[in-house]
Amino acid sequence: MMSLRPVFGHHDLRSRLAAAARSGRLPASLLLTGPRGVGKQRLALWLAQRLLCENANARQETEPCGQCQHCRYSSKLQHPDLHWFFPHEKRKESDPSAEDVRADLADIIEERVKADGLWAASSGMHGLYVSTVRALVQSASLRPAMAPRAVFVVGDAERMVQQDGSDAAANAFLKLLEEPPPGTTLILTSSEPGALLPTIRSRVVTVRVAPLSAVDVSAFLQDEAVVRQLGETDESRTDLLAKAAGAPGRLLEDNATADAFSAARQLLDAALAPQTPEGHATRAQVAARQGVSKARGAFSDTLDALTVLLHEHVRHTVNAGSEREARRVATAVSVLEMSKSRTQQNITPMLLTAVLLDELSALLAQ
Ligand SMILES: [Zn+2]
Repeated sequence: MMSLRPVFGHHDLRSRLAAAARSGRLPASLLLTGPRGVGKQRLALWLAQRLLCENANARQETEPCGQCQHCRYSSKLQHPDLHWFFPHEKRKESDPSAEDVRADLADIIEERVKADGLWAASSGMHGLYVSTVRALVQSASLRPAMAPRAVFVVGDAERMVQQDGSDAAANAFLKLLEEPPPGTTLILTSSEPGALLPTIRSRVVTVRVAPLSAVDVSAFLQDEAVVRQLGETDESRTDLLAKAAGAPGRLLEDNATADAFSAARQLLDAALAPQTPEGHATRAQVAARQGVSKARGAFSDTLDALTVLLHEHVRHTVNAGSEREARRVATAVSVLEMSKSRTQQNITPMLLTAVLLDELSALLAQ
């Protein structure tokens, strides 16, 4: 039977989380933050299995037993009390039912399990819509079906889409986070915690997920299912290790996503180039490369990837205590959001990029 790959790395974190679960000190609403591709959702699913396992606590063990009924269902993602929500494609109808949303997600989950439990980060075009949040809140209002408890994993939680008329669903979700029903655990994940609504951030306990060591990434690269998926690559192990940068999930990204990130990296580098004639020339060149007719979808993906990189850049450079820096970066992000909305208009990616790079450069120049 198909099941998920084992968790690679995160050894200390796993024993800390298991110890907290054992002693009943695990917060009911958690947020796992860390780089994209580091395995936050896999770790959340592991924790869900650990919480649902009927033996791990009694045996004082870190790992779920893997043998009990709950473990067997959890490891195939078929446990009725393990609920996994993540960004997905928007349905055509404007207001799909909770059943439809759950059915869509169940199909994707089945595909992921069939693909040896290896999946790529969700595309920039996918979101957690009002209908998704409504389905989640509704599921959480039901009694657990099989276990004495229920666990909700919400991947890429910053992708929650705010829409007109979404207040009721959003408020119900906030209430759920603040006061989950007894025996209910919510585990959110995000590689861009700065993009999370402050109302969400203030209601969860943040747990940092660190990049994997080279040893753990190597173990991942030797996994037979991973070898199968990366089969066609002609890159050396050293190249793959470098490319993974401690977050091997990145290696599973499809070409379109990888292209979007590589294009976004060029944009960010150009934006950070000094405010000198050379720097301006670099920005003009990068803008010219965006062309006049590039597919809008691909360009939107590039801008979404740039949002991720901008937040990563912030984490690396900004002193968290500096309010001025934080404001500057917040402005940069809103400038970027403005550009994204302009991609709907009839402006060429080249012109849009030229304006965007100038604005970002002015904001980010040291
Ligand atoms: Zn078990």
